[in-house]
Amino acid sequence: MLSDSVVFLLRTFRSFIAPVRRKPSDYQLTQDCGQKTQGDTADMASSFAPPTPKPELLVLDVDWTLWPFHTDMDVSPPFKKDSSGEVRDSRGKTIQPFPDVPRILDWLKGNGYTLALASRTWAPSDMERLLILLDWNKYFSYKEIYKGTKTKHFSKFTQNSGVPYSKMLFFDDEDINIHEIGRIGVMCIFVTNGLNWNLLKQGLEKFAKERS
Ligand SMILES: [Mg+2]
Repeated sequence: MLSDSVVFLLRTFRSFIAPVRRKPSDYQLTQDCGQKTQGDTADMASSFAPPTPKPELLVLDVDWTLWPFHTDMDVSPPFKKDSSGEVRDSRGKTIQPFPDVPRILDWLKGNGYTLALASRTWAPSDMERLLILLDWNKYFSYKEIYKGTKTKHFSKFTQNSGVPYSKMLFFDDEDINIHEIGRIGVMCIFVTNGLNWNLLKQGLEKFAKERS
């Protein structure tokens, strides 16, 4: 299949492709994916009250928004959970999300947000496997994970959920997605260093203020 060949090439030539495809800014990644060494934000789970109105659908990109790697390029399947509960790839690399993300997902779900995932990865089955191993499927009511344009993902979201674009909020780390989805009327928040509490708060407050 074409996508299998593309993923093979991405993973084989990752050292050449990575600097073009993604330029990590203030992250110092260790060999274990997801170890952030600076800039952690405070955990606001207990002190932050959801601003209203809330988005009726909150959509999250995956690669470089929820975790600091490209699933189709920077990690190698098969993935496994070891006896200590750590998820690792075939080279022993630990798969970890950005530090604030697990608590954020819990908080969003606990506060009644409806969540969706949108990814243009070339390796959807690998991403699905990681979502299972991290036990994240419980958070998401809708998922659109396949190569293409994000307008297609969002068209499916509105079709399946009945939520109009104006009632959605979207977090993504790629300019192209932000512009494309902003044009159809979804409020978009550009993620520069992974989803964290400050960015989530800014996004929810902006939505409450501008879409009330
Ligand atoms: Mg991304």
